[in-house]
Amino acid sequence: MLLFAAGAARAQSDDPLRVIVFGAHPDDAELKAGGVASLWSQEGVAVKFVSTTNGDIGHFEQSGGPLAQRREAEVSACADIFGITTEVYDIHDGELMPTLENRRKVVRSIREWDADIVMAHRRYDYHPDHRYTGELVEDAAVTVVAPFFEALTPGVDSNPVFLHLYDGFQKPYPFQPDLVVGIDEAAEAKWDCIRAMPSQFADADSWQGRYLPNVPEDAEERAEYILDYMKTRSAAVADKYRDRLIELYGEEKGRAIVYAEAFEICQYGRRPSEEELMALFPAFDE
Ligand SMILES: [Zn+2]
Repeated sequence: MLLFAAGAARAQSDDPLRVIVFGAHPDDAELKAGGVASLWSQEGVAVKFVSTTNGDIGHFEQSGGPLAQRREAEVSACADIFGITTEVYDIHDGELMPTLENRRKVVRSIREWDADIVMAHRRYDYHPDHRYTGELVEDAAVTVVAPFFEALTPGVDSNPVFLHLYDGFQKPYPFQPDLVVGIDEAAEAKWDCIRAMPSQFADADSWQGRYLPNVPEDAEERAEYILDYMKTRSAAVADKYRDRLIELYGEEKGRAIVYAEAFEICQYGRRPSEEELMALFPAFDE
């Protein structure tokens, strides 16, 4: 545990910062935290992405075991690009439930990774798998430090910091941008990761291939078109929270940042000060 050090010290430490990110599907953590994960990994921080479902239904032509295997191979390719570790729970897409079994599973993952920072969706998200991932991880914020819950998996030394991944939903309350991280230095890695997930972002029968308007028929043009759309989503986070970027990075850099990822401090788990949180994240200590 090294919660107060700046990035440079972390990279040289024998006990570097450890981060685990839970997304519901094999692309959520990559889209919401791929940039920051790539920046962290360059600083020597150990990052793991967990997909709490295997993504075996979110396609209009393929499904089942073969699609789950394809999804896992895709996020493994992303993990290589980002320099991180990845795991896909073998739970059917669209069927994740906030059960005791899954609470135990999430707690074991956090403990086995010895995480200092845990990220997940908010529980106010459009997809039930996103919502229940948020709920399961929030439930872990107390049980992970209870030594006799899953007593045979050694506990974390202290309660991790829990953060929520960005979403645009407004009810019952909108996402609060406690931390907005400029990811321009890692943007190419993030785009390479999106290129490495054709089942999500290139197939004619992928989710985006079906639902984005005016998608080209040519396969290469379609992949570039969808990638360009995904770039606008990272740019929209920077534009939406421009004032916060300026507060965090100063006027000049805060205005120049093109792409960003945003995080909200969960009300459960350890609640760090803003200064402390900034010291944990990459790119604020330059
Ligand atoms: Zn998802």
